[in-house]
Amino acid sequence: MILEDGRRILDGISSWWVNLHGHGNKKIAEAIKDQALKLEQVIFAGFTHEPAISLAEKVLFLLPDNQAKVFYSDDGSTSVEVALKIAIQYWENQRINKSRIIALESAYHGDTFGAMAVGARGIFTKPFQSRLFDVDFISTPGLNEGDKVISEFKRAISGNDTAAFIFEPLVQGAGGMLMHEPEILNEMIAMAQKQDILCIADEVMTGFGRTGKMFASDYLTSKPDFFCLSKGLTGGTLPLGITTCSDKVASQFPENNFEKTFYHGHSFTANPISCAAALASLEILTSKDCLTSIEQISRLHADFIKKNAFDFLCNLRHRGTILAMDAKTSDVPSYQNPIRKKIYDFFIERNILLRPLGNTIYILPPYIITEIELAGIYAAIREFENTLKQ
Ligand code: PLP
Repeated sequence: MILEDGRRILDGISSWWVNLHGHGNKKIAEAIKDQALKLEQVIFAGFTHEPAISLAEKVLFLLPDNQAKVFYSDDGSTSVEVALKIAIQYWENQRINKSRIIALESAYHGDTFGAMAVGARGIFTKPFQSRLFDVDFISTPGLNEGDKVISEFKRAISGNDTAAFIFEPLVQGAGGMLMHEPEILNEMIAMAQKQDILCIADEVMTGFGRTGKMFASDYLTSKPDFFCLSKGLTGGTLPLGITTCSDKVASQFPENNFEKTFYHGHSFTANPISCAAALASLEILTSKDCLTSIEQISRLHADFIKKNAFDFLCNLRHRGTILAMDAKTSDVPSYQNPIRKKIYDFFIERNILLRPLGNTIYILPPYIITEIELAGIYAAIREFENTLKQ
């Protein structure tokens, strides 16, 4: 990115985790232009179009085999709203009284009302607290003993009235890049599915290679019933959301049954230009070069952790292309922690965009980042550690 004064800024966080292939990617830009000249938008009710069909097929091909249907929306938050609404209606349509929702503490699923309700409650949600539906929150797996999390989960699902369990698989992003192992989530999903609870993987942030595999759920053997996708879906060029679900879920929404129809639609549902951008992005993402870059970033992050032991930067962790660490601070760790500004300013002065989450510094780069550029960010992190020592 180039600023007004000519400074080139290295986008170390993919502009809020959306960008996969760098800014101004030619292939995606051309796909957008070509599509804009063919069909820029059409009502997605009673009509369909080629980019939406191709994209649905491509996404289903990449997702686990149990995913069967694709529902388009506008962004990450709406992809979560759609999943929650379908999960609730799935039980309604069968006249089964299951309405509780389970989520994880420290979760972030978006800023619309349903998405806020299943996310951690705090300063961002405070004005709306009384209007958010009740949710059973389970201790964050990445911050707690596995046994504690599992026994809480067991208790929460024992009532037989839980409709759905929603989670960010393996990395809870906005909560502070909190990471947990696949085994614990796998166990939770298996337990939930045994009790006939629908499992919703919010892969809005973790999808499309971020965790080293195409989806974080590819690390799991128990496969979720829903996937929520956005951010990297279009390579980070245009807004688009996708919710997918299994045949089991779709079977409770029979065609031509007005009472059981899922009534949800946005004006720009499946916008053809966004779909064309997504198709172009996926073509780049699945190329050998891009998959090799993802592997290389993951390896370089692992090396960085192995070779560096810091006094003031702790909890070094990575999952695929996401590297995170926490700056020790005497203030209570939170999003508003004053060290946040210090970190941001330090890196931006060095032409690196790292936007910390409170005291958590993380790198979540576009896949075109070079080894030299990454080395530059690592060096700046080491320099930052030294300034904390002084
Ligand atoms: N879900 C997760 C896991 C996210 O990280 C985010 C955004 O950061 C969202 C949902 C909301 O996405 P959007 O900002 O596109 O509405």
